[in-house]
Amino acid sequence: MQRRTLLKFLAVGPFFTHVQAAPPKSMKSIEEMQKNWKTLLAPGAEVPNPGEPLKLAEAEWRKRLPSAAYKVLRQEDTERAGSSPLNGEKRPGVFVCAGCGLPLFTSEMKYESGTGWPSFFTTIPGALGTKTDFKILYPRTEYHCARCGGHHGHLFDDGPAPTGKRYCNNGVALKFIPKEGKA
Ligand SMILES: [Zn+2]
Repeated sequence: MQRRTLLKFLAVGPFFTHVQAAPPKSMKSIEEMQKNWKTLLAPGAEVPNPGEPLKLAEAEWRKRLPSAAYKVLRQEDTERAGSSPLNGEKRPGVFVCAGCGLPLFTSEMKYESGTGWPSFFTTIPGALGTKTDFKILYPRTEYHCARCGGHHGHLFDDGPAPTGKRYCNNGVALKFIPKEGKA
């Protein structure tokens, strides 16, 4: 195979892997998916990294964010199940924090959990922090953006193999950057 043909072949690769909706079978494939997350990023998209923290006063967040996003990100509210258009988002691309633009998940990490919230079985490495909350009496693992601290959702252990994880995310706390075309 000539080098140019090989490169062309590699360039269309991610499109075909996206078509299989099922999560990969091995943890090694999950690690590859995490390592290669930038292949799903739109060409020329500028995104921050977790090492550049964004700290703002609550009044500033309130000013910058739409009310529903403010309530979830800064007050740990939960959106109504089924209310986010991102539930049905299936195009290749990257899901970033609606507060600060930090990339959190790729389209390859998303799956249909049937809960009415966008759900993911793994994350972009280093994108999220966790803490335990007791808001509904029993302990849950809350997770938030590593860059701005914005609340995104809760982590459960009933996700698909091989990770067994379900990141149950509020759609209003995310923005989707399609790899191609319009947001
Ligand atoms: Zn953020």
